[in-house]
Amino acid sequence: MTDSPFKPLVFSGVQPTGSLTLGNYLGAIRKFVALQEDNDCLFCVVDMHSITARLVHDDLKEQTRSIAAAFIASGIDPKEHIVFNQSRVPGHAELAWIFNCVARIGWMNRMTQFKDKAGKDRENASLGLLAYPSLMAADILVYRATHVPVGDDQKQHLELARDIAIKFNNDFSSRIEEAGLAVPLTMGEEKVNAYFPVVEPLIDGPAPRVMSLRDGTKKMSKSDPSDNSRINMTDDADTIAKKIRKAKTDPDALPGDVEGLKGRPEADNLVGIFAALSDRTKADVLSEFGGRQFSEFKPALADLSVTVLSPIGDEMRRLMADPGALDAILLDGAERANALAEKTMADVREIVGFV
Ligand code: ATP
Ligand code: MG
Repeated sequence: MTDSPFKPLVFSGVQPTGSLTLGNYLGAIRKFVALQEDNDCLFCVVDMHSITARLVHDDLKEQTRSIAAAFIASGIDPKEHIVFNQSRVPGHAELAWIFNCVARIGWMNRMTQFKDKAGKDRENASLGLLAYPSLMAADILVYRATHVPVGDDQKQHLELARDIAIKFNNDFSSRIEEAGLAVPLTMGEEKVNAYFPVVEPLIDGPAPRVMSLRDGTKKMSKSDPSDNSRINMTDDADTIAKKIRKAKTDPDALPGDVEGLKGRPEADNLVGIFAALSDRTKADVLSEFGGRQFSEFKPALADLSVTVLSPIGDEMRRLMADPGALDAILLDGAERANALAEKTMADVREIVGFV
């Protein structure tokens, strides 16, 4: 983690929009588990984001609990760290409103996720979907978090969160100083009076963007209507094996080196998944499987996926059987998160000039 005058703090969120996928696990949750060893962390079920693309969910409460269950089943310690749901901490929405006035419409219009999710009928997308990245910036900055582990698809939103922090720090520079809240931050040649840290995205590993099993050019998503496009964290062994067997591939054998994966998105994706699940590099996986057919590689990948995911899936089901216990964890987390958020919001109200 890089030098910063701000205290290191990790924040990340997952939306309750469907069954968690292998993409969510490799791109996000598994990194959370590693980061909690050396850092203070907040892991949030971002339920307010889940109503941006679709307003009414039949089972939002259950989805929310299942994400909390996935965090805990994957190894996150909710006592040592903070696991909570976003809508319980009003500071997220309050700061998002201020950020709506910091961010520019042009910034939002450039977001590729908005374009993808709004589809052709952009005029009919919710205003919330357009403003999504502003709420996401607030999620992070209401804790003045410094590091955000996410998948590659969130890179653009994190750049926007950095832009919001920089603009807020600039626009309110003298007010921040007057309030005695300035943190001296060096930005290139310049010294600025910062209140918000400029967040660092943590996007790395061999599978920062896991692709759909049906289309190697499309991201694997929990909200994809096709269940065969993804591996769910709660799929059983037979389902995982069947989905991997059916996964789209090309007719060639696997190449001997990473260079040979160029122009072969499906092969690249499956090798990346294998590498991430086994904590190896793609080059290392190809040194074992190069020259072999998918008919040999796919069963090995299915076995590996089952070995990693089934204990987590079993534990998720066990936790989900006691919704009261999960709710208690979320409530306790929210109380602790709220205490932190309230401190920031008191400062922000002072800086902005609200009486
Ligand atoms: P939705 O389709 O509703 O947006 P999602 O699968 O994209 O669902 P999110 O809740 O939006 O999931 O994202 C949670 C985390 O998972 C984020 O850090 C995101 O970057 C990461 N993530 C999502 N999909 C992938 C993927 N295919 N590969 C790697 N990381 C991913
Ligand atoms: Mg998403």
